[in-house]
Amino acid sequence: MNAYAQSVLDQLYQRFPTQKEFLQAATEIIDSLSLVFDRHPEYEKAGILERFVEPERQINFRVTWIDDAGKVQVNTGYRVQYSSAIGPYKGGLRFHPSVNNSIMKFLGLEQILKNSLTGMPIGGAKGGSDFDPKGKSDNEVMRFCQAFMNELYRHIGADTDVPAGDIGVGAREIGYLYGCYKKLANNNGCAITGRGVPYGGSLVRTEATGYGLIYFANEMLKTRKESFEGKRVVISGSGNVAIYANEKATKLGATVIAMSDSNGYIYDENGIDLAAVKRLKEVERKRISEYVKDHPAATYTEGCDKIWQIKCDIALPCATQNEINLDSAKALVKNGCICVCEGANMPTTLDAVKYLQDNKVLFGPAKAANAGGVATSALEMAQSAQRMYWTFEDVDKALEGIMKSIFKHCDDAANEYDCPGNYVIGANIAGFKRVAESMLAYGIY
Ligand code: NDP
Repeated sequence: MNAYAQSVLDQLYQRFPTQKEFLQAATEIIDSLSLVFDRHPEYEKAGILERFVEPERQINFRVTWIDDAGKVQVNTGYRVQYSSAIGPYKGGLRFHPSVNNSIMKFLGLEQILKNSLTGMPIGGAKGGSDFDPKGKSDNEVMRFCQAFMNELYRHIGADTDVPAGDIGVGAREIGYLYGCYKKLANNNGCAITGRGVPYGGSLVRTEATGYGLIYFANEMLKTRKESFEGKRVVISGSGNVAIYANEKATKLGATVIAMSDSNGYIYDENGIDLAAVKRLKEVERKRISEYVKDHPAATYTEGCDKIWQIKCDIALPCATQNEINLDSAKALVKNGCICVCEGANMPTTLDAVKYLQDNKVLFGPAKAANAGGVATSALEMAQSAQRMYWTFEDVDKALEGIMKSIFKHCDDAANEYDCPGNYVIGANIAGFKRVAESMLAYGIY
């Protein structure tokens, strides 16, 4: 590794020894960028990498709310405003018990590069809370969202920081959060994206990450003269990204044979009945195990790790971080999988990525492959600024164009740095250079 890159990485390991997810993401990114520092000594002179890995601002705050039993509950709220080099901070909010500073920083760091790759003027951020919406009543979720926004509203705004959804933050939570924001801030600007269409949201935002993932994977497949037609696809998760990845992959002729939630997975040889999954997860908020009650040909397996043992052509991890480890990668290769494309953020461990790439599996890294969601959020910001709504077809067409352009940026950068087909390196370099050039232009502050 380039000596400058190595020294910055070493410092991170010394300063943040317990932030394992952050260190994992930083290691992958800095390792890829090593080649850039060899060619651009001016970046070292301006301390670009030290500044890039240190968030501009981190906010941790107490969130106090009252549950249905009248008991006072306390959670921690987070917002990491990582980089505003190319535009207002932008990145989702995650509500999940695992949320901590390390996870916020890993997601925020990735988000800088992802947002840069979209080609749109959006900086990088992430936020959330260790609150778990699962098992809570609507009123409890509403009270929590309002308590959370009671602090967050002073840090966000249409030209400052624009959060969106992520794990545990869907349409219901965004509604509560935005309703509270507009009241507290006395402002109807686009300070949150992923809003419902009646109150300023964009068509296709719901579908965008899943659709975008398939558009990106399709571009990778084309390089091998392949397509989704006739392919057997395994998708982990059954949330927003997973559901719409299934919808688009099926539309392109694939058969999705397995999906999961955090308890286990379903396998349906003839293809998952997506309408049933949508009803269970989006409307009834039930467990995926319920699927087999109405689908006797399907099976349910408790636990998630074996999902990657299922024989498939294309694997789309769309649940959470580190769900494909080295053993899973070996099983995928053994079973003839030709493409792994990341819908979730960092779902593949570093050794698994290497194994897949060494075995010539097409590998689409999250920061490129799942950028469709944030790109469509930027289209929502554009529509809000114009006081206009675009049609479903217009937004979908723009999304497809953006995903194709992201693929091209990754491919071009990989070729320029003599790593053809390595979209991990391509995505990191293409995303980073736009941010680095902007930072250089601003001088040192
Ligand atoms: P959702 O909350 O809608 O769905 C998450 C899905 O993953 C659920 O099926 C959930 O199961 C499952 N899951 C969560 N944690 C685990 C776990 N530890 N083990 C196994 N399964 C788990 O989230 P999204 O679909 O929005 O997000 C999924 C991933 O995609 C995340 O990594 C997110 O950061 C990333 N992403 C999302 C974007 C978006 O626009 N939504 C944009 C870019 C990235 P259960 O219901 O049991 O919790």
